[in-house]
Amino acid sequence: MESIPAVNKEACNKCGLCEMYCPDAAINQDLDVDLTFCKGCGICAHECPKRAITMVREEK
Ligand code: SF4
Ligand code: SF4
Repeated sequence: MESIPAVNKEACNKCGLCEMYCPDAAINQDLDVDLTFCKGCGICAHECPKRAITMVREEK
C-alpha cells in the first residue's frame, strides 16, 4: 500500500459516502480508517463531496 486516506473531520459533513463507496469497508461512520483493510485505492477521497479526505503517502 502506498498511500492512506487522511480525513479532515472538520471539513466532513458526515454524508456517509466514503463509508458507502469503500470497497473494503475500511472506513466507518466515525471516519476511522482501519489500515488492516484499507488498500489505498483512493475511492473515498474521490467520492467525498467536501474534499475532506486526502491521500497521503504512508510513513513507515
Ligand atoms: S482508500 Fe479505498 S480502501 Fe481505503 S478507506 Fe478509502 S475507499 Fe476504503
Ligand atoms: S465522504 Fe467526506 S464528507 Fe462524506 S462522510 Fe466521508 S469524509 Fe465526511
